[in-house]
Amino acid sequence: MKKWIDLRSDTVTRPTLGMRKAIAEAEVGDDVFGEDPTVNILQERVAGMLGKEAALFVPSGTMANQLAIKSHTQPGDEVIIESTSHPYNFEGGAGAALSGIQFHCLKGLRGILDVSQIEEAIRPDDHHFPVTRLICLENTHNRGGGTIYPIQKMEAIYRFAKPKGLLVHLDGARLWNASVATGIGLHQYAQWADSVSVCLSKGLGAPIGSLVAGSKAFIDRVHRFRKMFGGGMRQVGILAAAGLYAIEHHIERIKEDHQNAKRLALGLSEMEGVSIEPQHVETNIIIFDVSQGGMTASQLAEKMREKGILIHAFGKAQIRLVTHLDVNEEDIETALKAFNEVLGKRQ
Ligand SMILES: *Cc1c(COP(=O)(O)O)cnc(C)c1O
Repeated sequence: MKKWIDLRSDTVTRPTLGMRKAIAEAEVGDDVFGEDPTVNILQERVAGMLGKEAALFVPSGTMANQLAIKSHTQPGDEVIIESTSHPYNFEGGAGAALSGIQFHCLKGLRGILDVSQIEEAIRPDDHHFPVTRLICLENTHNRGGGTIYPIQKMEAIYRFAKPKGLLVHLDGARLWNASVATGIGLHQYAQWADSVSVCLSKGLGAPIGSLVAGSKAFIDRVHRFRKMFGGGMRQVGILAAAGLYAIEHHIERIKEDHQNAKRLALGLSEMEGVSIEPQHVETNIIIFDVSQGGMTASQLAEKMREKGILIHAFGKAQIRLVTHLDVNEEDIETALKAFNEVLGKRQ
């Protein structure tokens, strides 16, 4: 079988042998009855890591975010969010469909908002306006290029939000990456949000699963809505076991993904027609522009596919690459060699 080097996303990883063994040996029970011991351990572990009272296991990051939005808001409320964020762009319009909220989008710098922008976006207390209820942040920021939310900015936003009675949700699908890159603890980031979602199925390499964490009262509401959204699962300890294995074995190694991403970005910066700023590659996501070259992004993706390298084209001119558990240093060199054959070095 041909070995593809798949740089489209960090969701493409396959469970390792060790993880499959943990899955096979997992103790299970009916989690809708709260009786799956492995799920209960995972929930407690993740709540502890995030410094929150409770956490709930859910099938996807989308469900985690949308349950948080549902649990924090009433229909008609306004949710302040960055305009390239995941919950706004890539969750099928769920905020409107499932919670009846409207998003108030603000343009950030590679996904990062400043508290002053949020200050201006808060609606006055007047019957003409929707009620501003929730602020959603994303760390790391996917479409922003894996950008790390500076913790001081998160703190400033949270400190601004609290006296106004606003809630803060953190989409932490890749909070692990931010924490490994900066050395700042997960709980330190999480303290500046009322609720946090994290994904086990991205850089951590589990096949399925996310968690939402927050106060006990909040998680109680999330639990009710999880049932309503169809996310109550039964002997799901087989998945929680993969998640526990991932947390124990795959967090520290994320730094290799970050080194590989840096190496890729530096190599790409020497290629003809590529616009990239390697200093903006902070974690495992690389976004670059090819509009100065002779090909569209999808043409480049097609040429790379012929060489066994899978990459993701965004629109006409942008490419996203993501490093992960299933690509090693040698794969990065192979990918760069292929880019060089297709694009050539800058003169
Ligand atoms: C992938 C991702 C999600 C949602 O994940 P799914 O499990 O695919 O639903 C949420 N937020 C961010 C930032 C993501 O990258």
